[in-house]
Amino acid sequence: MKVLKFGGTSVGTIDSLRNVKAIVEGNTEPLIVVVSALGGITDQLINTARQAASADASHVESYSKIVERHHRVIEGIVPEVRRPEVLAVTDKLLEELGNIYRGVSLIKDLSDRTLDIIVSYGERISSVIVANIIDGAVHRDSLSFIRTTKQWDKHILDNDVTQGLIHSVFDDIEAPVVVVPGFISCDSNGNVTNLGRGGSDYTAAILAATLSADVLEIWTDVDGFMTADPRVINNALVIDRLSFTEAMELCNFGAKVIYPPTIYPVFHKNIPIVIKNTFNPDAPGTWISDEPAASEDKPIKGISSINDTCLITVKGLGMVGVIGINSRIFNALAHDGISVFMVSQAASENNTSFAVRNADAPHALKVLREEFAPELSAGSLTEISSQPDLATVAIVGENMKHAVGTAGRLFNTLGRNGISVIACAQGASETNISFVIDSCNLRKALNVIHDS
Ligand code: ASP
Ligand code: MG
Repeated sequence: MKVLKFGGTSVGTIDSLRNVKAIVEGNTEPLIVVVSALGGITDQLINTARQAASADASHVESYSKIVERHHRVIEGIVPEVRRPEVLAVTDKLLEELGNIYRGVSLIKDLSDRTLDIIVSYGERISSVIVANIIDGAVHRDSLSFIRTTKQWDKHILDNDVTQGLIHSVFDDIEAPVVVVPGFISCDSNGNVTNLGRGGSDYTAAILAATLSADVLEIWTDVDGFMTADPRVINNALVIDRLSFTEAMELCNFGAKVIYPPTIYPVFHKNIPIVIKNTFNPDAPGTWISDEPAASEDKPIKGISSINDTCLITVKGLGMVGVIGINSRIFNALAHDGISVFMVSQAASENNTSFAVRNADAPHALKVLREEFAPELSAGSLTEISSQPDLATVAIVGENMKHAVGTAGRLFNTLGRNGISVIACAQGASETNISFVIDSCNLRKALNVIHDS
């Protein structure tokens, strides 16, 4: 059995849906097909909700556009004999959506819970459309088998409950193809939730892992993972093979090819992932598995970056040799749900720097200044400062650990090009070297490293 996931662009137009149909029907083994909302619809659902909440009359027109888009696709691709049946289902969903928007505009309030209900309609409708264009396909609703629970203010997967529910829904299905909506889920009270933006990949991985699929295919609009962002580096190449670790390092760090939580469930069950292009199905794509990097593989497989970086530094001579400062820093941040994506501390121990998103920085500073108020007033910590508008770059590859001089070449290249490194980090696994630079140097840094 295989699990195939098609993203928003793949299900976004009548032409792309024809490709999806051909790809799915070209398979002979049993399939589960996970689909995103039609490309751009999730953003439109959110924007329309915000318009409605601010009593902006344009929400009525925005909603009509959503309805028209779905109608156009249904008329263009669903066979005529099935169209009335499909429209009966989708129009009922669209009508519910319209009623919710009306409610939001009347009370001028949009709660997180309401927004979660609103965004679910994208996948609920797209999955009904896809199920009705594929021969022999049946539809099942992820709301009945993907279960979330709450952590901080986020919905996270309730893995144990979900696994049981998936088996109860899928174990007896005989149809060759089951189509399900990605992204959406329910909590234990029956409230509609979701797995986060980009979460359809994760839905597919959860199904693949629970049902022990042979492979997870992620069908998207690029040929695979690239050696660098092709919008910045025009000679970036497709990477043909990655280990799970390398893929995780790359997608955690800017490469938008897959949603990062996707990798763990399939890695854990050792199910390979293939990234394929719906618009170029003959291209081999990127194969991600636990096969160790071949010795002829390059030490660096790819470069990725995050432009949105603020570096926070906790500094003081009184930190040297004191046990527990780092524990307090990260506990205080974790307690407030602030995510840290890079950490650097020199062996002198007199300062610790870490990277957060720019938007999280004021909150992080406040939390730390409260936590260390006694040390700041006693002078054992001299400052807690932030440096916004930076970029973080990571070079990734498992063969770095066998290649002497990679870090040397990297920093040499940056130095020769006048790019100053503000902070850097490399874990002992040696699969990733990350460094922070001024945002204005990002493009140049990516270019010179990629060339080198
Ligand atoms: N439709 C959702 C989003 O745009 C989920 C997904 O496509 O993976 O984020
Ligand atoms: Mg995606």
